[in-house]
Amino acid sequence: AFDVLVVGGGPAGAAAAIYAARKGIRTGVVAERFGGQVLDTMGIENLISIPQTDGPKLARALEAHVAEYEVDVMNLQRAEALEPAGDDGLARVKLAGGATLKARTVILATGARWREMNVPGEREYRGAGVAYCPHCDGPLFKGKRVAVIGGGNSGVEAAIDLAGVVAHVTLLEFDGKLRADAVLQAKLKSLPNVSVIVNAQTTEVTGDGGKMSGLVFKDRVSGEEKQLELEGVFVQIGLLPNTDWLKGTVALSPRGEIEVDARGQTSVPGVFAAGDATTTPYKQIVIAMGEGAKASLSAFDHLIRSSAP
Ligand code: FAD
Repeated sequence: AFDVLVVGGGPAGAAAAIYAARKGIRTGVVAERFGGQVLDTMGIENLISIPQTDGPKLARALEAHVAEYEVDVMNLQRAEALEPAGDDGLARVKLAGGATLKARTVILATGARWREMNVPGEREYRGAGVAYCPHCDGPLFKGKRVAVIGGGNSGVEAAIDLAGVVAHVTLLEFDGKLRADAVLQAKLKSLPNVSVIVNAQTTEVTGDGGKMSGLVFKDRVSGEEKQLELEGVFVQIGLLPNTDWLKGTVALSPRGEIEVDARGQTSVPGVFAAGDATTTPYKQIVIAMGEGAKASLSAFDHLIRSSAP
């Protein structure tokens, strides 16, 4: 059995694995896709002390760093179920391939994914105008025109944030009104370089084959099709944690995030969690790495306090 079994091979899982292995305990990592969301990222400029890198490069660096230690890496394996420890003190993680792994502690780091609009051009211009993370990519659009899709809290927060960096922001909301908190809506209205369009259904991201150049939306009241010329669009219609497989086992928030305390402890003893899959706010690489390290130290603390051999 493993002392620490990490589920997930993104920044959080890699950090957790390294911190565990450095304690000289038996460590394993199961990952559907080692590298995680980082693999889908182009420029990364906010990983402190590394002024500029890109996703594939960082993913390779994570893998190489983990490989410096005795870590059993099981890549391209999806976890399907978690069974909390019984009398033998061992939790069980069932894999899609049929195998079951046993571990004294488990660290859940399965990350999240952005909800997509699913319209033509969105995938094609991803990283070439289509963005999801204002903290990450906002500065790349300095002085340009962007749209934000989604009038919930995250969309309105993104529009306020981007208004300070870009030339102009157009916020598009599908519904007849914004759903964000009143205080955010008031702040948004006070900004001179933001316009809001409601009842707008985005139908296409347009471009020249290399870069996006705008988007097409349908006015849901008149049925009319309209176009906007833009250099970028930030899609803010939800971040979905990869936690469906944990329903009924660990406590999840209404949004499906794994509830963790300040030490990364979940509702199940011996099971910890870190990164974008958890209730910890602000989904960023540097935060996921820190939380992964913390969850791992908590798991070690749990191990030295438990009586099992
Ligand atoms: P993830 O990176 O999502 O990794 C999750 C891991 O778990 C993966 O290995 C996945 O395969 C695995 N997994 C999921 N489900 C299972 C399962 N059932 N069984 C086994 N394995 C599973 N952040 C920044 O700080 N700076 C940026 O510039 C930046 N740019 C971004 C650009 C894009 C396009 C995107 C999508 C995100 C960006 N982010 C950026 C956010 C950043 O990538 C995430 O915050 C970070 O990757 C979260 O790390 P994580 O380890 O929690 O999860």
